[in-house]
Amino acid sequence: MTATDLTAVLALASIALFVFGLKRLSRVRTARSGNALMAAGMLLAILLTLLEMGLVDYRWIIVGLVVGGAIGYVTVARAQATQMPEIVARFNGFGGASSALVALSLFWAVVVETPDDATAAAVLGGASAVTLVLSVLIGAVTLAGSVLAELKLRGTIGGTPRIPARGPMMGLLALASLAFGAVAVFAIEDPVVSSLLIMALVVGSILMSVALVVPIGGADMPVVISLLNSLSGLAAAATGFALGNQLLIIAGTIVGAAGLILTQIMCVAMNRSLVNVLIGGFSGGAPDHGEYGHVISADPESAAMVLEAAQSVIIVPGYGLAAARAQNAAYALAQALQRQGAEVRFAIHPVAGRMPGHMNVVLAEAEVPYELLHEMSEINQDFAETDVVIVVGANDVVNPAARTEPGSPIAGMPILDVGNARRVFVIKRSLSPGYAGIKNPLFEQENTVMLYGDAKEMLDQLANELTANA
Ligand code: NDP
Repeated sequence: MTATDLTAVLALASIALFVFGLKRLSRVRTARSGNALMAAGMLLAILLTLLEMGLVDYRWIIVGLVVGGAIGYVTVARAQATQMPEIVARFNGFGGASSALVALSLFWAVVVETPDDATAAAVLGGASAVTLVLSVLIGAVTLAGSVLAELKLRGTIGGTPRIPARGPMMGLLALASLAFGAVAVFAIEDPVVSSLLIMALVVGSILMSVALVVPIGGADMPVVISLLNSLSGLAAAATGFALGNQLLIIAGTIVGAAGLILTQIMCVAMNRSLVNVLIGGFSGGAPDHGEYGHVISADPESAAMVLEAAQSVIIVPGYGLAAARAQNAAYALAQALQRQGAEVRFAIHPVAGRMPGHMNVVLAEAEVPYELLHEMSEINQDFAETDVVIVVGANDVVNPAARTEPGSPIAGMPILDVGNARRVFVIKRSLSPGYAGIKNPLFEQENTVMLYGDAKEMLDQLANELTANA
C-alpha cells in the first residue's frame, strides 16, 4: 500500500466516524459516544490534512492541538448548562474563522509569496479561485455573526435596532464583496492591490453580517446560531474545494446539511418560518404581560400535602429550570416522590429551553435516568390520567393559547397538554411571560396553582417538606 492509498483509507475512516457519530447524536442515550466518535474523526481529519499537505512543521501541529484543546477544555469546563448556546456560537465563529484564514493563507501563498506576477486564478485555476473567495466571504460572515450572536445572547448588545433598507443594503454589500474578491483573484496581478481588495472583501462580509444579525432579537439567536453553524460547514466545504481537499469538502458538507436541518427543526417546532425569524419575528414586539383574572397560588407546605397523596406525577422542565440551575433539585424531588410510591416521569418538549436538547443536557447533568425522560409525542396523552403535573420554569411550551388563539404568535406550535391533569403546579417567580412574550391562560385554569419563587429554592422546599413528613 502506498502512502497515498493509506491517506485515502484514513480519510475514509475519518468520514465514517463523522457519519456514525452524527447518527448516534440523534439519541440521548448514544449522544455522548456519538460526540466522542466525531471528535476522533475530527482529530484524524486535522492530522491527515496537515500531514498530507506537508505545509506545516509537525511541531506546530502539536502546539496548535495543545493550545486549541486547552482553550476548548477550559471554555466548556467553566461553562454552565444555560451558557451552551453562547458556547456553540463561539465555536461556530472559530469554525468560520479557520476556513477564512486557511483561504487567506492560500491566497497569500500563491499571490504574495510567489515571485512571478500572476493572478490567483492563473495559479490555482478558476474554480479554486472562486471557492477561495466564497470561503473568505462565508467564513467572515460566520465569524462576525457568531460573535454578535454571543454578545446578543449575553445581553451585551440589546434590543432590535431597525436598519433602514436592510434587505437592499445587505444585497449591495454581498455584491460589492463578491466583486472585490473576483477582481482580486481574477484580474489583478499586483500583490499589494489584490491583497487590499481581499481585505475589502473581508470588511464587506463583516458589515453584511452586522446588518443580518444586529436587528434580530436576542431570543431568536439560537435559530441564527444554528444557521451560522450551517454556514461554517459551507465555508469549510468551500475551503476544501479551494485546496482540492476531499475530506474538508465532505466534513463541511455534513456540517452544512446538519446545521440546516437543525434550523428547520427549530423553526417547525416553533411553527415559524426562517424568513420570519430573520426579519425580526415576534422578538421585536414589546412583551404582552397580559391581564390575569383569577389566579390561585399556594405555599410549598400546602403543595407538598397534595404531592404526598399523588400516585402519578409528571415534571415539565422549561427554560427557568436551566436558568435557576434547578436540575439536581428537580431530580431530588422526583426521588422523594418515588420513595413515597408515586410514579414520576419528566416530559420533554422539543423546544423547551433555548436550544434543541437543552432539557436533556441539563437533566443528564443531574444524572436523571433516561427512562424517566419522555418526548412530547409519547407522553402527551397521559396528562389526562395524571394526578399532579409540576411545571418548572416552563411557560410557552405549556401555553394552551397555541391551540385556542389563532392570532397568537405561537398559534400552531405543538404544546404539552399539562392542563388536562387533575392538578397543575406551576413554579416560576411571577406571572411574567416567557420567550414569546405572551399571556398564558393556563395560569388562570381552576386546576392550576402557582408556586411563586425561584425554581431551585421551591423544589428544595417541596422535597424537604416531603422528606420531613415521610
Ligand atoms: P419560556 O421562555 O416560555 O418561559 C420560561 C419561564 O421561566 C419564564 O416565564 C420565567 O418566568 C421562568 N423563569 C425564569 N427564571 C426562573 C427561575 N430562576 N426560577 C423559576 N422560573 C424562572 O420557556 P419554555 O422552556 O417554556 O419555552 C421555550 C421558548 O423558547 C419557546 O417559546 C421556544 O420556541 C423558544 N425557543 C426555543 C429554542 C430551543 O431550541 N429550545 C430555540 C429558540 C427559541 P418568571 O420570570 O416569572 O420566573
